[in-house]
Amino acid sequence: MITKLSADAAWDAEPTLTFWGAASSVSGSMHLVEAAGKQILLDCGMYQGRREEARQRNSHFPFHPEQIDSLIISHAHIDHCGNVPTLVKQGYAGKIYVTPPTFDLLKVMLNDSAKIQEEDAAHINIARNYVEPWVQPLYTFADVDKVLDRLVSVPYGRETKIAPGVTFTFAEAGHILGSAMVSMNMEYAGGIRRLTFTGDLGRRGIPLLKPTAPIPEADLLVCESTYGNRIHASLDDTIEKLYAAIRMTMDRGGKALIPAFSLGRTQLIVHFLQLGLRAGKIPKVPIYVDSPLAADISEVYRSHPNALDPIVAEAVREGHGILGGDGVQFVRSFEASTELGLRPGPHIIIASSGMCDAGRIVSHLKQNVDDPRSTVILVSYQASNTTGRRLMEPKPTVFFQGKEWNKWLEVVHLDGFSGHADTHDFLAYLAPLQGKVGKVRLIHGERDQSDALAATLREHGFSDVVVPQPGDRELI
Ligand SMILES: [Zn+2]
Repeated sequence: MITKLSADAAWDAEPTLTFWGAASSVSGSMHLVEAAGKQILLDCGMYQGRREEARQRNSHFPFHPEQIDSLIISHAHIDHCGNVPTLVKQGYAGKIYVTPPTFDLLKVMLNDSAKIQEEDAAHINIARNYVEPWVQPLYTFADVDKVLDRLVSVPYGRETKIAPGVTFTFAEAGHILGSAMVSMNMEYAGGIRRLTFTGDLGRRGIPLLKPTAPIPEADLLVCESTYGNRIHASLDDTIEKLYAAIRMTMDRGGKALIPAFSLGRTQLIVHFLQLGLRAGKIPKVPIYVDSPLAADISEVYRSHPNALDPIVAEAVREGHGILGGDGVQFVRSFEASTELGLRPGPHIIIASSGMCDAGRIVSHLKQNVDDPRSTVILVSYQASNTTGRRLMEPKPTVFFQGKEWNKWLEVVHLDGFSGHADTHDFLAYLAPLQGKVGKVRLIHGERDQSDALAATLREHGFSDVVVPQPGDRELI
């Protein structure tokens, strides 16, 4: 366990980084910087995996939360911010630095997460017939309120001092609204050291958001590698396939069900559907976004036009239907969602979750899985052992919600909408840093993806590229 250094010893010590989460995996992003005698946490993401393991990992930190001095969050996806309430509950009392859009998104995302934690605990207690001691939620709405009190909004590009001799600056990551790279400068007796943490990086050429900024030079670059060994399908082709699937479904009088995560993917799909409507590439049918969470998130998108692509921002200011209007209706209440399920097609329904295992998409799927006029359009990666993945299997039936269903609806899988950089994007972002960056450490990727990107980078002249293990500590 880390102990506090005297002021002189702290000044002498070289800054270090310890990889605690999303090292050789993609879940629970969390990295600890020690510099100038201070401990600064980068991200505090929720580990998502099997229930018991996730509970253990999320409720036990490998350091003392009360000894952390500062926390910087890269973006509002739950695997990067979802465990902050636990950190605060366990004694963290410092500031939490975020970009202005992330400031607003965290309120929505963490309250939704608290709701899930509370429902989850209630579900387990019912299943155990209320045997004492009751299972407690990982955190509650009250814990989230304490997080929100600690948030400090820092605009992109503004160098901010967080400790004597330690500053950081946010740069645009282009992944979701508010996403940022974190570039840190740390003074010590031997000089100054620079660290860049990319968070999650977006793709080139994705509309809606601002493009990814140049990656800041650093002595140690900590870079994500989710799709380090993949070339995404062309976005233009993918959009045309989306339109074609919708035209076919609407011609049949069916429903097009689009499972999508509420933050990021839903806004992107709505944007493409509105472009398709305006260009006459899809018929004028109602588009329902059946998700109160997505409705709240879309409000945040609309309230930060300066963080969006300039063309989109202009349209928002002029009152055009971006993320709403132009046939798009948000469905908030449970009653309205039930009523929507009974309404005949043709229409389009977007709802979470992205892999069809939870959320309102499940009831729409139940109602339409045996309707040959309808289509489920999968617009995200589908992990194994999910309903989404099972829908893709070439079988006449599909198992979900405890039973085998006749699968008579059409299934279309489009994997070109990813919000993460692919191999070509990484090379484009990293090539200018060749010779200007010391060590490169690849995180946030399954081992095969990270290893492949490491090999590619070595081929392109980066000499010191390593995929760290959880707990590895590195001089910056
Ligand atoms: Zn992300």
